[in-house]
Amino acid sequence: MAFDPEQLRAEFPILNTRLGGKALHYLDNAASAQIPVAVIDAVMRHETAARANVSRGVHSLAERATEAYEAARSIIARYLNAALPDEVVFTGGTTGAINLVAQGSASQLKPGDEIVISELEHHSNIVPWHMLRERIGVALRALPVTDEGRVDLAALDRTVTKRTRMIALAHVSNVTGAVLDVAPVVAAARASGAQVLLDGAQAVPHGPVDVRALGVDFYAFSGHKMFAPNGIGVLWGKREALARLAPAFGGGGMIREVALDQISYADPPRRFEAGTPPIAQAVGLGEAARWVAALEREAVAAHELRLTGRMLDGLADIRGVRVVGPQGLQARRGVVSFTLDGVHPHDLCQFVDDRFAVALRGGHHCAQPLMRRFGLAGTSRASLAPYNTDADVDALLQGVAEARRVLV
Ligand code: PLP
Repeated sequence: MAFDPEQLRAEFPILNTRLGGKALHYLDNAASAQIPVAVIDAVMRHETAARANVSRGVHSLAERATEAYEAARSIIARYLNAALPDEVVFTGGTTGAINLVAQGSASQLKPGDEIVISELEHHSNIVPWHMLRERIGVALRALPVTDEGRVDLAALDRTVTKRTRMIALAHVSNVTGAVLDVAPVVAAARASGAQVLLDGAQAVPHGPVDVRALGVDFYAFSGHKMFAPNGIGVLWGKREALARLAPAFGGGGMIREVALDQISYADPPRRFEAGTPPIAQAVGLGEAARWVAALEREAVAAHELRLTGRMLDGLADIRGVRVVGPQGLQARRGVVSFTLDGVHPHDLCQFVDDRFAVALRGGHHCAQPLMRRFGLAGTSRASLAPYNTDADVDALLQGVAEARRVLV
């Protein structure tokens, strides 16, 4: 069946919400995307037919729960083209996944070792490395960002050195929508013996990712941004990369043997899944991955790109609006940040919410170094999903134009 965003909307009951009598225009997908009925049903089915704890139970229901949990792992492995399901670690989200790598790498690092990030990273990909800086004395180095809001890869040569141990970058920026050109990063890492971690939070909602083709060592993402429940995310790691990581959390399920005077740990991925995992959420994530993979990828990409163009053109026509990010459509996703002269982003977001039921995000987007780079306190951000339509974009443009008339 040909891709039709209007038909897709029927799968998302929440999109029928009316706010103050107005139809909702949900453009905050980069923060959290909505959930289709297929995913809600999969969670419901699991909770009503297979709810039990995993891995340790011997009764039939526990076996059913374990099978469902491990089936979700296999679906995610396929979504990422991982070599093995055991390369997929379930976490609480992107933040949990990156912390797991940072904390788990601590014992391999020494003072003076270097971690390379960029100026446009989400705090989730800055703070865990800062914590290592404070704890161990590793140095944090950042690739600069171009005026277009992209990581400046021309600076790779002077930023990545023989002391670099990790290059950790966003696959897609949650502020500018810029897509990272991964190949030169991997080449620089290989030349210096460093590992590469990609923060894929804003990339995986747009379709399957091939971690093997990317050639990276770790890949992190969150379920709630890709049409799955909250509280679940993934760290994918190459088998040998995961094997080198120490566990960051201890508890049930992650051990081989415990005595009072010694301990040995389970192999990955269980080594990193201490305690009862978010089981129904993992089942939901598996279903969400299946749901995204079944969309007509090229048609969805073309649709989102067209809407992004409509948004960029429309914003360019409103006096006082400045887009922070690529002005063109090449190597960018439908995440559009902008400022309106004389209006604080929070005021703008509240205004378009009140008057037009348009849901945007306003603020620093957990990217304060990037805001500093552009001399801004924050931006307003509209972000697209496949179910968005021309009507959503037009409501946004009408709202921003009206805000200029009323608030400036
Ligand atoms: N990285 C990026 C690029 C993001 O956009 C986000 C969330 O906005 C995160 C990391 C953090 O994700 P989570 O809060 O789900 O852990």
